[in-house]
Amino acid sequence: MVGLATARAIARSGRAVLVLERHRIGHDRASSHGASRIFRLSYPEPEWVSLAQQALPLWLALEAEAGERLLNLTGSIDLGAIEPQRHALAACGAAFDILDAAEVELRWPLVVPAGGQVLFQPDGGWIRADAALRALHASATAAGAEVLEGTPAEEVTSDAGGVRVAGLRARAAVVAAGAWTPSLVELDARPTVETVTFFSLEDSVELPAVLDQTTSAQTGFEAYALPSPGDGLKVGFHASGPSADVDACGRPDAAVVEWATAWATSRLAAASRLLRAETCLYTGLPGERFALERRGRVIVGSACSGHGFKFAPLVGDRLAALAAEAIA
Ligand SMILES: Cc1cc2nc3c(=O)[nH]c(=O)nc-3n(C[C@H](O)[C@H](O)[C@H](O)COP(=O)(O)OP(=O)(O)OC[C@H]3O[C@@H](n4cnc5c(N)ncnc54)[C@H](O)[C@@H]3O)c2cc1C
Repeated sequence: MVGLATARAIARSGRAVLVLERHRIGHDRASSHGASRIFRLSYPEPEWVSLAQQALPLWLALEAEAGERLLNLTGSIDLGAIEPQRHALAACGAAFDILDAAEVELRWPLVVPAGGQVLFQPDGGWIRADAALRALHASATAAGAEVLEGTPAEEVTSDAGGVRVAGLRARAAVVAAGAWTPSLVELDARPTVETVTFFSLEDSVELPAVLDQTTSAQTGFEAYALPSPGDGLKVGFHASGPSADVDACGRPDAAVVEWATAWATSRLAAASRLLRAETCLYTGLPGERFALERRGRVIVGSACSGHGFKFAPLVGDRLAALAAEAIA
């Protein structure tokens, strides 16, 4: 995802760019596969709200270019401690409503704790992730980027004149290898294998993205849920997975499947039938931050920490700007 977004931005600036992907674009062994990801402005920190605000028009531009729906802006809902989000959104001039349980239940088939407050942010929702990946790929190649699939970069070396990657010489390299980034460059990252579950839900149910901190007391982790075309509803528990062996096929964690089933049963009766569970890799950095750094002619782009998809076009622009700086 990040590599394609960066290649697209570099190609659009008129420079030659080559993407090396060791599997095929869209494969399911890394971080960017699947039908949907949450898009939200609602973060506890104004910095992230502001970045999401900057990413939104970039997604809309990609959507216009692709000629198909990539974003479903059905809104986002926060349950639990909502004060930090409320302050951060207000500081950035973003709209939001505070709803009580009865108001929520009137609008969506969602059960929220009695007496609890809910923050609804209308610009959030969810991204059609597989369509977004295809759109970035198509846009990058249309702009002139070359994408070589089935081509691993075993190492990245640099000297004063340029970089060497997979036997090729270039003026700069962007390492955006997701959970494999630490195997190519030094990075204080912890890849984890995360479990995601899918429940049946009628297509006609228009749901916002849900972030539910109230689950933390029992499970230790925040639950999230969002529509997932083809299945219905996707439910996960943020950063709940163990350290990953990135080259092994991860197996879903039975405890997370149990928590997710209990969550769906209690919050969304319409989605209580478990269809399947799968895994996906997080590349966690301390403080859930991203690494967007230039080290001479090598640029490191690790924008995951479990929440990077929504920023992809913005991150791509920033990494492309660092690459331009490297060769200036
Ligand atoms: C379960 C789950 C839920 C998530 N939910 C959300 C969400 O709701 N909202 C949100 O904004 N974000 C979310 N994220 C985070 C988001 O999906 C990631 O931030 C994003 O997909 C990271 O993309 P990436 O390009 O950095 O990594 P990847 O998609 O992993 O891409 C890295 C690519 O590099 C390739 N590669 C690795 N090593 C080499 C090499 N040596 N040579 C050539 N190619 C190589 C890999 O094959 C891979 O295709 C979620 C992530 C997961 C796992």
